Amino acid sequence: MLAAEVPGLLNRIANQVRPLLSQGRLPKYIPQLGRVNKLQFGMAFVTLDGQEVLAGDAETPFSIQSISKLFALMLALERVGDDLWSRVGKEPSGMPFNELVQVDQEAGAARNPFINAGALVITDVLCSTFAQPELALLQTLRQSAGDERVDIDQAVMWSERDTCHRNAAIAHLLKSYGRIKNSVHTVLDTYCRQCALTMSSLQIARSALPLATIEGLSPDGACAKLSAAQRHSVTALMLTCGTYNAAGDFAARIGLPMKSGVGGGIVAVIPGIGCVCAWSPGLDDTGNSLAAGRAIELFAEHTGLSVLGSSTKTYSAQ
Ligand code: GLU
Repeated sequence: MLAAEVPGLLNRIANQVRPLLSQGRLPKYIPQLGRVNKLQFGMAFVTLDGQEVLAGDAETPFSIQSISKLFALMLALERVGDDLWSRVGKEPSGMPFNELVQVDQEAGAARNPFINAGALVITDVLCSTFAQPELALLQTLRQSAGDERVDIDQAVMWSERDTCHRNAAIAHLLKSYGRIKNSVHTVLDTYCRQCALTMSSLQIARSALPLATIEGLSPDGACAKLSAAQRHSVTALMLTCGTYNAAGDFAARIGLPMKSGVGGGIVAVIPGIGCVCAWSPGLDDTGNSLAAGRAIELFAEHTGLSVLGSSTKTYSAQ
């Protein structure tokens, strides 16, 4: 497939996934997310050589939720370096993202940065690094997205803050094992703010773009300061842990490093090429967006942009 054919492809994908939009479920455990219009779909493909292709509601902001775990990890790695891995692991948990028992059984060890225990530890690191960590993340994302409209949705933030009992329990457990240094209140508050970041598919794809960098190609942006080894670690974690307990299935079906959030966004990194982000609020049983997941699957199938060797399709920038 030629790059010039991608706009037509994204529009075809938007049509193909339309029947799925009404089928997904909204995540009612954060009440504000349960009030979103399900019938929305957006997709953005952004390349290292500067192309941007959009379809549907690609510029509509939505709650990025756990996609913030990816950006928080990138910022923490950039600031703290590889010492970060002494605080959080790189193993899949095989458990729901908000699991408590495993954290207790493993003496407060956080298996990876994409489950809530690990994300709370990363937030703790940011709290120790910045006076106003959520603003540091916000500024970083405004810069990497090239868009000052990236923001924190206060209604979503309070909605989660009022109901985040499991996350509070996880944070207290981590604290009891000495795994977080700041107060539980500070970490929880910051975590809820970062989850309430609101971005469009286009802004997310632009902000994840540094992860697609291979040697010799380096986009500007605050998150571009990761070493090749750090980018590899982050993308490997996306592949193995980025889509909840469906990560194995996504890896086998799509074969791209991805991170999803319960706001319905999924961003995928295509090393050496770029990033694709799709969004639709309705979730499947695993907590991943039904339509966004299928859209990225169709994208990988049609372009051949995937680590899976089975595709006969190839993508050419010219
Ligand atoms: N703020 C959500 C939580 O901690 C994020 C969940 C997600 O997107 O995976 O429950």
